[in-house]
Amino acid sequence: MKLIFASHNQHKTKEIQNVFQSFAEIKSLSDIGFDLEIEENGLTLKDNAEIKAKTIWKATQLNCFADDTGLMVAALNNEPGVHSARYAGLEKDPVANNKKLLQALNGKDNLEASFVTVICLIINREMHLFEGKLKGTITHEPKGSEGFGYDPIFIPENDTRTLAQLSLEEKNRISHRGKAFAQMLDFIKTRV
Ligand code: IMP
Repeated sequence: MKLIFASHNQHKTKEIQNVFQSFAEIKSLSDIGFDLEIEENGLTLKDNAEIKAKTIWKATQLNCFADDTGLMVAALNNEPGVHSARYAGLEKDPVANNKKLLQALNGKDNLEASFVTVICLIINREMHLFEGKLKGTITHEPKGSEGFGYDPIFIPENDTRTLAQLSLEEKNRISHRGKAFAQMLDFIKTRV
């Protein structure tokens, strides 16, 4: 089965190809020559995943899926949430995002946070949603050099290291995205 991933991100595409192996052939938007940027203006992760998947479905009529991830910080009313990529500005600078988040939490006792990933899959004209969550806490200073985004300031539950101190395999086993895509894989296996 061929599935279009509504993203230009080749790094994420590789990760997902690795999860799906022979169960589905995953093509990114760059792979199919879809050049337009899709505006993510939804109010929730689910909205944004749906917007992206529906845009690609309408343009190509091909089975496709999109994901959207956010970091929900309890003491900040679940911000940055849907604004995670652009928290410190339109440049989507991860170092500036981490700095802003640590400043916002300065002096707060509750450092609980969770990453949430929502996937919207459109297959044979039907829409299916999957969700994965990783609970943890925010550190006082960045640590580690693996991963991306907020990884250096997020410690997953039952660990003492940040996500940026875990190998890619260790992160994928426990991560929000890993869990959401594992659910989607289980579903796909019932369709092949
Ligand atoms: P996206 O929906 O996957 O593009 O994620 C939106 C933003 O959330 C990214 O730009 C990152 O700032 C952050 N993010 C998403 N996934 C992760 C992750 O696994 N680790 C750290 N930050 C992440």
